[in-house]
Amino acid sequence: MNQPIFRAPRGTFDLVPPRGEAMLAVRDAMAAPLRASGYGYVETPSFEETRLFARGVGESTDIVTKEMYSFTTRGGDDVTLRPEGTAPVLRAVLENGLHRGALPVKLWYSGSYYRYERPQKGRYRHFSQVGAEILGTEDPASDAELIVLAVDAYRSLGLSGVRVLLNSLGSSESRPAYRAALQEYLRTLDLDEETRRRVELNPLRVLDDKRPEIQKALAQAPVITDYLSSGDREHHETVRSLLADAAVDFIDDPRLVRGLDYYTRTLFEFVHDGLGAQSAVGGGGRYDGLSELLGGPRLPGVGWALGADRTLLAMQAEGLPLPGRVGVDVFAVPLGDDAARRAFGLVTALRRAGVAADVATGGRGLKGSMKAADRSGARYAVVIGSRDLEQGVAQVKDLGSGEQEPVALDRLVEHLRVLLA
Ligand code: ATP
Ligand code: MG
Repeated sequence: MNQPIFRAPRGTFDLVPPRGEAMLAVRDAMAAPLRASGYGYVETPSFEETRLFARGVGESTDIVTKEMYSFTTRGGDDVTLRPEGTAPVLRAVLENGLHRGALPVKLWYSGSYYRYERPQKGRYRHFSQVGAEILGTEDPASDAELIVLAVDAYRSLGLSGVRVLLNSLGSSESRPAYRAALQEYLRTLDLDEETRRRVELNPLRVLDDKRPEIQKALAQAPVITDYLSSGDREHHETVRSLLADAAVDFIDDPRLVRGLDYYTRTLFEFVHDGLGAQSAVGGGGRYDGLSELLGGPRLPGVGWALGADRTLLAMQAEGLPLPGRVGVDVFAVPLGDDAARRAFGLVTALRRAGVAADVATGGRGLKGSMKAADRSGARYAVVIGSRDLEQGVAQVKDLGSGEQEPVALDRLVEHLRVLLA
């Protein structure tokens, strides 16, 4: 019996053309506003010491308690495939001393993340994010800048249905009073054992409980915005007015909390309705205490991560064409061995001159090769027959109009460059 074919692990999938190109285009679009705004590119390993996430993301979060791919190496080290990017990037900043140079440090990154989740549409065990962080400033303009850059990235992809949810979680000046008030309210509710434990441990996390009966009970819960200190309120108001100045619409959502423990003050989420049970296409916030949690000096920061997979799904839900280009501009069709050699040289020269080009391989006939030319997406086919070769020309065929003209072989590269310009 044949061995069954291998499949990608549960909760993961392959990106094959043209979705592969589409994913590249989504990531490029997310990075473009950052690259044009002075952000430096950073890459960290895809696994880290497990303690980094336990500490940095929060012991009681879903990510740390349920979703991490953790294992002990042959050498006895406890490591985890990164479930998120902020803790690793902050670790890298501290380790490399970036925080001792000019502040703020602005960084962006892009990569694979891993969470052991229940797989469904838009929720995978391996997914792709582009992230950005600004470290070393408490300026609310940085919070606003990041939100604007994310909104601009979504816009550049043609998305119109992304909404911005905005909240402030307050700083250590406001949080204790709110925490106590929320706890007091939650204790009056009839809750299950586990949720009651959460009320005592981390009451804000209860706000994130998606169960309808809990959400209903939470309608009367106190909201953080009523508990903000004057400093926190001023920060929040500045972010709001800068967003308004930048013509970014947002929705105040005083019950917004997010699945990581480290946030302070500004918190935001980008949501879209085309994703089935999911809605978040990205999110982030300010995390002024995270550096100290990781054993570093005080280093306030703000950042976001945008989900590339869900963004692509959102584009499809809006009926947008797949972004990204598959194929070439010129496709060479040689007929015969001598022509094939000339075509190889021609295509190499075109590519070196910056023209996307491909060539029919394997000595296929005219018909099969022209089919390949059509499939390649090329605007021009360059047909080289044996009589053409004797005359030192090739036939340049416009695949749109079907028009064809002979062009001298030694002028071909320049000729095509002009045609495509
Ligand atoms: P959710 O509430 O949907 O679980 P999250 O709050 O856990 O999302 P973040 O940690 O903020 O998500 O990650 C930022 C973005 O990464 C999300 O908005 C989403 O677009 C994407 N993302 C997170 N988890 C997954 C996943 N398992 N599969 C695909 N994309 C994901
Ligand atoms: Mg999650």
